[in-house]
Amino acid sequence: MAEHEHEHVRVAVIGSGFGGLGAAVRLRREGVTDFVVLERAGSVGGTWRDNTYPGCACDVPSHLYSFSFAPNPEWPRTFSGQRHIRAYLEHVADVFRLRPHIRFDSEVKTMTWNAGRLCWDLETAAGSLSADFVVSATGPLSDPRIPDIPGLDTFPGKVFHSARWDHDHDLRGKRVAMVGTGASAIQIVPAVQPLAERLTLFQRTPPWVMPRVDRAITGAERLLHRRLPVTAQLRRGLLWGIRELQVQLFTKRPDELGLVEALAKRNMARSIKDPALRAKLTPDYRIGCKRILLSSEYYPALAEPNVDVVASGLSEVRGSTLVAADGTEAEADVIVFGTGFHVTDMPIADRVVGADGRTLAEAWAAGGAMEALRGASVPGFPNWMTVIGPNTGLGNSSMILMIESQLNYMADLVRQLRVLGGRVALDARPGAVRSWNRRVQERMKRTVWNTGCESWYLDANGRNSTIWPGTTAEFRRATRQVDLSEYEVLRTPAVRKAEVDA
Ligand SMILES: Cc1cc2nc3c(=O)[nH]c(=O)nc-3n(C[C@H](O)[C@H](O)[C@H](O)COP(=O)(O)OP(=O)(O)OC[C@H]3O[C@@H](n4cnc5c(N)ncnc54)[C@H](O)[C@@H]3O)c2cc1C
Repeated sequence: MAEHEHEHVRVAVIGSGFGGLGAAVRLRREGVTDFVVLERAGSVGGTWRDNTYPGCACDVPSHLYSFSFAPNPEWPRTFSGQRHIRAYLEHVADVFRLRPHIRFDSEVKTMTWNAGRLCWDLETAAGSLSADFVVSATGPLSDPRIPDIPGLDTFPGKVFHSARWDHDHDLRGKRVAMVGTGASAIQIVPAVQPLAERLTLFQRTPPWVMPRVDRAITGAERLLHRRLPVTAQLRRGLLWGIRELQVQLFTKRPDELGLVEALAKRNMARSIKDPALRAKLTPDYRIGCKRILLSSEYYPALAEPNVDVVASGLSEVRGSTLVAADGTEAEADVIVFGTGFHVTDMPIADRVVGADGRTLAEAWAAGGAMEALRGASVPGFPNWMTVIGPNTGLGNSSMILMIESQLNYMADLVRQLRVLGGRVALDARPGAVRSWNRRVQERMKRTVWNTGCESWYLDANGRNSTIWPGTTAEFRRATRQVDLSEYEVLRTPAVRKAEVDA
């Protein structure tokens, strides 16, 4: 406990998923070695450590869903499974010699801006420390959300969230209720359907589902990527380019998405022959406004005789009877919640206390929205940035692209602080944040995410504070360098006085 007390580091990175590990690699490359990675769990991997549900895999091809600086010629499948992605992140931690920096079981409880010393005071589960600069990479989808269902405590069976799968609980021969039809649920359903005696799916909103062209990457391909790394780069480039073109439809021409809807309907019709079931599964909103899900196994699983689709959300639990909002009842032994995460109420925001004594959550609530400068910095929270912050999410491409852009920005922030010299801090100017967000929201207006439907991308006020309304290349350009005019430079009073005296 006392081990890290009164310790000071140059940079504290919070989280050891793609964001935190990427930040650590980038800091080392910038010549910063005085940093720690604080992780609440006992191993690295974030999303890919926590989500172990059957069928868990990425839905962006592996050669794009990986770091550009750590290509992996050995990806076993076009869409690799959780086990392989987790192993990849463990490998990154080893190869880039990050282990000495990582502190497990060190959940950050609070971080408070110390205006006198221009640094952050952090309280963690393993003691306290201070840092000149904080990189918060706690993940956009790391705190599971279970809806408040009346009577859930009366359920006699097992209940768990998709991101906290209980592997000790055998689902064979059980009546399983799956609540939710998001990205995790559509991977879970085909994996659980063959085991369960009955599978009841509670569907509030049907997703649009396109086929997933998943296949083993052949030995010859892997050999080629190993021997000629440029071939892996070309593959990545192609995967990236296709998605950059696709995004134009979402951001600029949502009206033309009807063709894509027709393809998705054909995909459904191939497996779902029963017109009544097809009607239940057909979305009534524009494709793309929620993430388009990829699966070639979801619809075939739903067509199996041991599956019931309830086209209504779970609204009440009465013992082992689950009641949907439309009154449909089903008996279950196990409830699996595939109900997503706390996204628009970023949990870490309650734990960051800024210059005026308010938490980040309070500052955002007062401003009416979760917003940051270039997805990273917030006024009143100097020398603090978040990775995958507001409006950095993607609807159709790899989040690693966005993370790497944000790490370019982080590297430049750290560089600028070094150039400025002495005890110094950079605080985003409110005007710069407003102007950035005005532009983001202006572009958002005509995108499919704002015009197509209600989704978890929108906050309680209907504002889209999660998605980036452009291409990943545009975001990369916007975060390549820090524009110092967007920041106020803070100095400690002693230094300011010395400067005046001089
Ligand atoms: C099932 C699933 C599948 C996905 N598939 C894709 C995909 O195919 N393509 C894609 O682009 N994106 C996908 N995503 C999104 C995915 O979350 C991101 O791509 C990426 O993994 C996020 O990395 P991260 O490091 O920001 O967050 P995370 O991986 O969530 O890591 C955050 C880390 O911070 C730690 N942490 C949180 N709070 C604290 C605290 N207070 N103190 C200390 N540590 C803390 C957590 O324990 C965790 O290790 C998927 C998400 C899920 C849940």
